[in-house]
Amino acid sequence: MLVVMRDHATTEEIEHVVERLREAGAEAHLSQGEVKTVIGVIGERELIYSLEMEGFPGVSEVIRVLKPYKLVSREFQSEDTVVRVGGSQVGGGTLAVMAGPCSIESEAQMRTVARAIKDAGGTFLRGGAYKPRSSPYEFQGMGLEGLKLLREAGDEVGLPVVTEVLDVRDADTVAQWADVMQVGARNMQNFMMLEELGRIERPILLKRGLSAKLEEVLSAAEYILKGGNRDVILCERGIRTFETYTRNTLDLAGVAALKTLTHLPIIVDPSHATGRRDLIAPMCRAAIATGADGIMVEVHPDPEHARCDGPQSVDIPAFTAMMVALKPLAALEGKRL
Ligand code: PEP
Ligand code: MN
Repeated sequence: MLVVMRDHATTEEIEHVVERLREAGAEAHLSQGEVKTVIGVIGERELIYSLEMEGFPGVSEVIRVLKPYKLVSREFQSEDTVVRVGGSQVGGGTLAVMAGPCSIESEAQMRTVARAIKDAGGTFLRGGAYKPRSSPYEFQGMGLEGLKLLREAGDEVGLPVVTEVLDVRDADTVAQWADVMQVGARNMQNFMMLEELGRIERPILLKRGLSAKLEEVLSAAEYILKGGNRDVILCERGIRTFETYTRNTLDLAGVAALKTLTHLPIIVDPSHATGRRDLIAPMCRAAIATGADGIMVEVHPDPEHARCDGPQSVDIPAFTAMMVALKPLAALEGKRL
């Protein structure tokens, strides 16, 4: 249920509603815009309705929400969420560019790639320390040692860093070293982890599950917001279909739809969506035209020798050239790059 307050309702009126809701055992989540305040209510439905809040001072209307998510919806918050990290941001008139290797492999690799990404205009450095691999015999990532290399490389060039938290038991360690914590596609419905990340003070990059419907992506994000963490970035990274020419199928219509359904920023990862380096630049262009708030691209100084996802990684010259070409496109969409 959403309690929509009248324009310019007073603090006392808002506090009164919140107090009565809490007395009734409900959670009250506030969305305070310039003129309008909306209170998202979570709790026992019948009990909440019995409060008849329509008659409370300052209340404009009470809306029943039939969707399985509330706090992530545009109804709850009409303005776009902007996630700010260090000097970078996702949403709000900029195009975020998260780039870096699939997996962290060495100090030299990270330092080289970080410098190149920064020089090309990238805004976040990515790299996996804990890798979700389909086979247990594949490289699983460098773990804590990798987190440290990522942090050092990011600090050296002044880029915030993004890395995946694969297991809820590593959440605190990852939070200690990373600026943005990524939830991978395979963990999108790991509800225990989502609840834990709702309590952490780090922005979360939530990737769409391999077979997740948009409603399921939004419901997963709802877990994080419900816990109190409002800094969530969604990521479309392709879904599994009958097509095997590409690794997955990039659902750009889904991105456009999400922009209408939620206030959360959305980025596109063409690397995992296509699995092919020749398709990265065209899909980045398409993502920008669709209204995405950013892109995530796998970049490796030597893709042929990458320990993970080499075929979909672009090298440094290709990334640099792509960034030059994307700049005017971003400007056309009113986004700084
Ligand atoms: C990744 O970003 O390296 C990754 C493993 O992505 P996904 O979870 O989308 O497969
Ligand atoms: Mn990868």
